[in-house]
Amino acid sequence: MSAFRVPTRHLQFVNSAFTLPGLQKSPSLPVSNPTKSFWLDSAPDVNPLANEGSKGPLTQDADICIIGSGITGVSAAYHMSKIIAERPTETTFKVVILEARDFCSGATGRNGGHLCPAVFLDFKYFESKYGTEEAIKSLAIENYTVDSILRYIAEENFTDEVDLVAGGHITLFVTEEEYAEAQADFEAAKKAGLPLNDVEWISKEDMHAYGVDFPGASLATKGHNLWPLKLVTRLYNSAKSHTSRLSLDLHTRTPVTSIESLQEARDDNPTTSTRRWKLNTPRGFISTSYVFHATNAYTGYLLPHMHGPQGIVPTRGQVIALRAARPLQDLTKKAWYANEGFEYWFPRPMKLGEEFPLCILGGGRSAAGPTFEWFESDDGMYNEDAGKALRACLPDLFPGRYEEGREPEMEWTGIMGFTKMKDPFVGPVLENSLGTSDKFKGQYVSVGYSGHGMPRAFSCALIVSSMIIAEMFEETWEAPAWLPERYLTTKRHAFEH
Ligand SMILES: Cc1cc2nc3c(=O)[nH]c(=O)nc-3n(C[C@H](O)[C@H](O)[C@H](O)COP(=O)(O)OP(=O)(O)OC[C@H]3O[C@@H](n4cnc5c(N)ncnc54)[C@H](O)[C@@H]3O)c2cc1C
Repeated sequence: MSAFRVPTRHLQFVNSAFTLPGLQKSPSLPVSNPTKSFWLDSAPDVNPLANEGSKGPLTQDADICIIGSGITGVSAAYHMSKIIAERPTETTFKVVILEARDFCSGATGRNGGHLCPAVFLDFKYFESKYGTEEAIKSLAIENYTVDSILRYIAEENFTDEVDLVAGGHITLFVTEEEYAEAQADFEAAKKAGLPLNDVEWISKEDMHAYGVDFPGASLATKGHNLWPLKLVTRLYNSAKSHTSRLSLDLHTRTPVTSIESLQEARDDNPTTSTRRWKLNTPRGFISTSYVFHATNAYTGYLLPHMHGPQGIVPTRGQVIALRAARPLQDLTKKAWYANEGFEYWFPRPMKLGEEFPLCILGGGRSAAGPTFEWFESDDGMYNEDAGKALRACLPDLFPGRYEEGREPEMEWTGIMGFTKMKDPFVGPVLENSLGTSDKFKGQYVSVGYSGHGMPRAFSCALIVSSMIIAEMFEETWEAPAWLPERYLTTKRHAFEH
């Protein structure tokens, strides 16, 4: 049996550093020299929209401006175009996406590629903190999101294009404590009536079949992996083609540097624009009635009151692309989590000419110094200790299947947006947790997925898109049954204790 050189710190210990005094740094825009990720940079033509709309005149007026071109912002454009297409209206709508850097170059273009809904882990925690109904909805939204994305991929027939692998998911428990907590969560979820038929527990002995030389039992559940940028590129193209009643512009390399109220300008000079907001960029400004902040880790730059432990804490994650030392059939096509989710990996589907698969492995934050990368928003840098932990992880868990000392083919970082509750803020921007939205009327957010956005962002973007359109048509918005109430900015204060 080999030793595991990645620190197995308890998640609660790492989380306790979240609020350390003196750790806070000011919010910032995305840096201009990010590290190169496999998803964005492994082939020259992989990001066809990289610099779309970055030159020439800037759109000057829009009904809705979406800030950010990751999975949240682009899903929002997708949902808006679908909703408008299904409405019996002749009105046309103008939607603009503004992106600070290249298309999809934030967390979505730099993540671990897992599209895995939460199963029942943490069920007891959710239940004790928020009640059984909310605990069930925590899982319902993720199943709804993943099912919706899978249906979209199947209907549009681009499974191969995004390298979708529906191979399932394994959670490997590296401590007895972690394993015991998972079993207690399973019992609580079963008692609450959750269907858990597809959950398979794997004993320590049976894990040898997977090449794991480590005393850890495991859990097999459903799960997928894919190429996130390619999914988002598809969503953008669908958004553009749903209906001629919604026009969509994209301006990359156009950071929004500030937002001003046009209401105040209008009070002084009634001939100015009837729009509510003026978005300033280095290329000029754009007037708009609605603003959707899809800026995740960077939310605090435009909304400073949402920066910090009561709002969003930018947090750097690190990923490597490591060549395995054995063929794919020896590694399983599954996506894996270990060490309370600190490490996550999967072997990529084999490409022509490859002997052994490339494995995408993220994590190492439990090794990343006393601040665990909280408040780090520079994805142009690496953390050396996280890098060392990542290099040790797979050779330790699967001796012989990953070679000791082999250097990764690529290494990159990305910035996650963490919240105290680990749940996103979804809905109108409020002045404070108990306040009204009057000061920010027409501004909305869906941010703060806390490192777990792929099975949530698409549906959270649907929520905000449908809220904006309901407001435009002066209709009452109703929450779907799968939405945890605590995600809503307007309801969150009742759950924050
Ligand atoms: C290293 C890493 C690994 C991860 N692994 C996984 C995983 O395997 N599975 C999973 O489910 N989740 C994972 N996540 C989390 C997931 O990637 C995110 O939750 C999700 O991508 C968030 O999407 P988003 O669109 O909200 O944010 P982003 O993709 O970050 O998009 C926000 C965009 O806004 C832009 N922006 C910010 N400020 C401005 C401004 N002022 N003006 C204009 N543009 C602006 C940014 O440049 C960025 O492109 C990981 C994240 C990281 C960083």
